[in-house]
Amino acid sequence: MIGVTYDVRVKRIIAILKGPVCSWNRCTFCCFYEEAAKDLGDLIQTAKDILLKIKELMREKPVDRLSFFNGGSFFELPFSVVSDLSQVTKQKSVEIESRPEFLELESIYHLYKILDPRRLVIRVGFESIDDKIRNSFLMKRISDGEVRRIVELRDCMKNEFDGEVDFIAYVLFGINGIDDKSIMASVKEFNKHLDGVIAVKYRMYHEWMPEEIGVSQSLLEFLIENCLDVDMAESDIWRISNPQ
Ligand code: SF4
Repeated sequence: MIGVTYDVRVKRIIAILKGPVCSWNRCTFCCFYEEAAKDLGDLIQTAKDILLKIKELMREKPVDRLSFFNGGSFFELPFSVVSDLSQVTKQKSVEIESRPEFLELESIYHLYKILDPRRLVIRVGFESIDDKIRNSFLMKRISDGEVRRIVELRDCMKNEFDGEVDFIAYVLFGINGIDDKSIMASVKEFNKHLDGVIAVKYRMYHEWMPEEIGVSQSLLEFLIENCLDVDMAESDIWRISNPQ
């Protein structure tokens, strides 16, 4: 769902922007490309409209946290959009998503300087700690070496930014092909090396996608206990606007 929502409990604005089609766009469980911008003009105009709504909300309500999603990596947005968004990010807790290949000391430092947040939270869609599941089943194209590089980068950022940049891993559940044991191992491992885990319930939007399965009570309890958030993907945010 492209647009803006406000979560009064945590004073959080969630902005779903239009991005370019994700530069990878091969993950077997993802159809975010359906919400991608038609062209650069569409992308920029949508960002401008969303920025206006954010400013309106900020005039009316207290805002502590701003989460930006663009169906891919935040670093793929044009610089002009990122620069415009900096009008509302100063000294807020700002969350973005990114594939690992965009994450380097320089790119994060540069973004931090532009957005000037109180805290920058980078959510990385690793989905599973198991290399076979991550790459052969989900087609993430994120090697074990790349996972290790991000863990090292995170440690390095902790020194550079005095703990003001957090790295959080997404872990996928509710998908036929990843059992409870493997999901729990992913959560434990990412919790050990990063700043936390957000568990995301898989949704099957098309027949060509992997099958969606129910979630056992024991897994749910484990996730609630061990994750920063368990996203059951029931919110309007998950409604894909332009199904093809
Ligand atoms: S990297 Fe993210 S946005 Fe890109 S195809 Fe995979 S899940 Fe979708």
